[in-house]
Parts: sequence; C-alpha cells; structure tokens
Amino acid sequence: MSERKPEWLKIKLNTGENFKELKRMMRGKTLHTVCEEARCPNIYECWANRTATFMILGDLCTRACRFCAVKTGLPTELDLAEPERVAEATEQMGLRHVVVTSVARDDLKDGGASIFAETIKAIRKRMPLCSVEVLIPDFLGNWDALKVVMDARPDILNHNIETVERLSDRVRSKAKYNRTLELLAKAKEFQPDIPTKSSIMIGVGETMEEILKTMDDLRRVDVDILTIGQYLQPTPKHLPVKKFYHPDEFAQLKDEGMKRGFKHVESGPLVRSSYHAHEQVESAAKA
Ligand code: SF4
Ligand code: SF4
Repeated sequence: MSERKPEWLKIKLNTGENFKELKRMMRGKTLHTVCEEARCPNIYECWANRTATFMILGDLCTRACRFCAVKTGLPTELDLAEPERVAEATEQMGLRHVVVTSVARDDLKDGGASIFAETIKAIRKRMPLCSVEVLIPDFLGNWDALKVVMDARPDILNHNIETVERLSDRVRSKAKYNRTLELLAKAKEFQPDIPTKSSIMIGVGETMEEILKTMDDLRRVDVDILTIGQYLQPTPKHLPVKKFYHPDEFAQLKDEGMKRGFKHVESGPLVRSSYHAHEQVESAAKA
C-alpha cells in the first residue's frame, strides 16, 4: 500500500517556549529520548506538557522487530551511571511525567531490570512529585527480574502487546503474545495497586475482531490503561502499512475499550504509548 498519508496524520507544529527550552537543555547531553530519536510526531505537544521518554541501556537492541527503527546489534557495556543522569535530566527539564524505556537486552542476565529499578529510585529522590512510568521489555520471561522493577514501585508499569495474536510472531522478534499477557498478570500479582498499561499499534493487517479480542485478553489480566495508535512504516525495509484507520474508527475503538472496563483508553492516529501519559496516570488513579 502507498505510504501517502491521509490528512489526519499531518502534524501541526507548535514550537512553543516550553518546547524550545527543553530542546536547549537536551542539547549536549549524553542521553537519548525516544521523542527525538523516533522523531515522534507528538514531541512539541508532549515536551510543552513536560512529558518525555528516555531510552536507557544503550541504543543497540538484541532483537529486530519488523516495525521498529532501533538498530539491532550486540551491546557491549552497561552504563551504571545512567540512572543518575536520567534523574538529573528529569530535574533539569522540570518534567511532570517521565517515561523510562529501553531496548531489549537479552544479553544481560536480568535483562537490565536492576538499571530500571535504580533509575526509578534516582528520579524519586530528586523529583518526588514527578510520576514515573516504565515501559519494559519482557526480560525473556524472567519474573525475578520483573519483581526487581515492581519492587522499585513505578507509578505505571507498561508493557506493549503491540499487535494481535495471529500477527505477533511476524511483527515482533522473540516476544510472545502469551508471555506479554503473563508478564502483565505477574506485575499485578507482585504489586496489585500499581496500574498496568499496554499498547496496540494498528494498520499491520489485523481485523477489527482481532483488535477487540486483544482488548479482551488484556482485560483478562486486569490491564488498566490502553493506548491504540496508527502504525507508520519507518523505512521502506520495514513492514508495510496495510491500512490507515480513520479517526472515527479510533473513536469507536476507544468506546469499545471503555466498555470493556479499561480505566483510560487513549486511541487516535498519532497516539503513541506515552502520549498524554500524565493524564493517563491521573485518570487511572481516580477510577
Ligand atoms: Fe516522547 Fe512519547 Fe510524547 Fe512521543 S508520545 S513525544 S515518545 S513522550
Ligand atoms: Fe524495537 Fe523493542 Fe523490538 Fe528492540 S525489542 S527491536 S527496541 S520494539
């Protein structure tokens, strides 16, 4: 299918003062934000609202998902000072909500869980009022590693299911649909009061029924927050877009999600996992 984007995917640029100021602060830092690296379409809005996503544990991933632009390779070192640097940047940027994510580090025994935990603790120490969301890999099903992250008590535990069961093996590398559900169930078992969250990107060949079934599966393991966004092909080598969903279809999916009992559903063409994340924490806490 042609990559020509429909009208609703064209972005209005809003380079307000907050955005410019954060951009200046990030310049010269040795940290990576997903917002910049993935050229996220929401960067102006998110940064203006003091939300950003940091990528820790390096920029080389041990996996190669067919939708993802992150480089694949074997990382060589572990940066033990990274948690403190992320906390420092969070403070300097004056963030209200910070998302910490990483590449999959299947080369490490704990998949990088201890660095996630240290990062949560370091941010808490400097910025006790800033909510911390972690978007974690599946640690290859190492639930002891997951427990280390949960014991550091993030405000939200996020792990993406990405797509429907039938397409999972084709779209993702190494991740398993059922392991994702198991991880989300275990997170609740370890810390029942910490909201869990997951995301589906649509447009890779799934049917409406399959999306609804994925929602049911996520609700079965008590996931609280769901985000649904349009898949966009990062380069011609990546999976092609099979369908551009209309904003009305996203609205319909939001209704279906709310009917199923999610506390918050963010659904729209440009929605990414951390889009409006601060509002998601607030509504999950109120619900
Ligand atoms: Fe950054 Fe996430 Fe916002 Fe995109 S949606 S700009 S990655 S915080
Ligand atoms: Fe990208 Fe995550 Fe897949 Fe790595 S595991 S290729 S970072 S989606």
